[in-house]
Amino acid sequence: MSARSSSETSPPSRLPGLPDGVTDPCVHCGFCLPTCASYRVLGTEMDSPRGRIHTLKAIEAGELALDATVASHFDSCLGCFACVSACPSGVRYDQLIEATRPKLNSAELRSPWQQTFRQLLLAVLPYPSRLHALLTPLRAYAGGPLQTLIRRSGLTRLLGPQLEAMEALLPPLAAEGFADRFPLVTAAQGERRGRVGLVLGCVQRCFDPQVNAATLAVLQANGFEVVVPADQGCCGAVSHHQGQMEQTRSLASDLVRSFAAAAGPEGLEAVLVAASGCGHTLKAYGELLGDEQNSFSCPVLDVHEFLAARGLSASFRAALQPLPITVAYHDACHMIHGQGISSEPRSLLRSIPDLQLREATEAGVCCGSAGIYNLVQPQEAAELGQLKVEDLSRTGASVIASANIGCSLQLRRHLQQDGPEVQHPMELLARAAGLSLESTTSADAA
Ligand code: SF4
Ligand code: SF4
Repeated sequence: MSARSSSETSPPSRLPGLPDGVTDPCVHCGFCLPTCASYRVLGTEMDSPRGRIHTLKAIEAGELALDATVASHFDSCLGCFACVSACPSGVRYDQLIEATRPKLNSAELRSPWQQTFRQLLLAVLPYPSRLHALLTPLRAYAGGPLQTLIRRSGLTRLLGPQLEAMEALLPPLAAEGFADRFPLVTAAQGERRGRVGLVLGCVQRCFDPQVNAATLAVLQANGFEVVVPADQGCCGAVSHHQGQMEQTRSLASDLVRSFAAAAGPEGLEAVLVAASGCGHTLKAYGELLGDEQNSFSCPVLDVHEFLAARGLSASFRAALQPLPITVAYHDACHMIHGQGISSEPRSLLRSIPDLQLREATEAGVCCGSAGIYNLVQPQEAAELGQLKVEDLSRTGASVIASANIGCSLQLRRHLQQDGPEVQHPMELLARAAGLSLESTTSADAA
């Protein structure tokens, strides 16, 4: 359990801005407790959805002050929204925690180190050029013998829990993650079925660049022209998750402008994304930007949702070769709870001949990634990561399919070296269809 800090200061005791009546439907039944990731590892009522709702009611009634101790019980929430799916009374805990998070950023509610660390993460992660600058000196270290040696020696413990967690999550850094490799427009193959935009995700494009390459190749092979604005930045998911609304709105506005300029007069049928954490925030742009007119002029869809709705093309289906592997699909929280998507990725995977899907027993429980949670709350996140990989490994699958970059990094961190590998469903589809991921380079530019 993490240590709690106290505060001698007098922060605001009320939480203006909570949606009216949003706590009212809670009947304290506790059905949400078994699904709650923070309750599972911390075991205290204050770290459960029911406890947090009770706390919010007390703060709203002026019976309790939002001090550092109370704030720490909101910081322990992963924002996974499993409690929203589980609640029979329809309590919108997602709205509650999203309205509460901006208030947790008051200077007096966190330790100076936590504030500095969070500020550092939010100053780097959403900006691809800064992330590249920080990571470039680490390319020789990440995934190399020195990293193996240092991890085995236990020296990383000297870094302290947060930096140790960063090091533990650091994957090998491929050259592709540091290059702008996609053309503005990639032509459709075969009969043209539409024109879509693709959001690359600032963390995904750097840490797992093959995912976007596979997504683009699968869309192209299914008859879609794909527009990838070269200047696209972060969608704002990381800052949104931290309640940093000004930064989120600024990043969101920039991304909308970038896609509008790249789409040109022909426009786009949809803006697609292959990272569910990003997708959840992108779908909230209308609300975040306060005006639908400022948001995308077409729907935002997760790529699985889009392909399942439009259907795989006949030529793509015909190209799918048997892939005799067992796969456990991992439900990312921002996909299953945040966007209600669970059957679509599974149905796409089932279209691959000979691929066997297996189900974990606790599909709806968070893996502990949760934006930057596994960096700022590393102990709780590590416990959850271990529980998740044990659950997935018990399926006996040789591959875990994960459609969210944060989850993929978290799962890879906790899996044994000889355990299942983690791949994105788009990578599996591209592999089964025999697609070359190099075919999506500038040679195809319109
Ligand atoms: S949030 Fe829903 S599930 Fe949880 S205690 Fe309240 S009514 Fe029950
Ligand atoms: S969002 Fe997740 S961690 Fe937070 S209260 Fe709900 S179930 Fe628990």
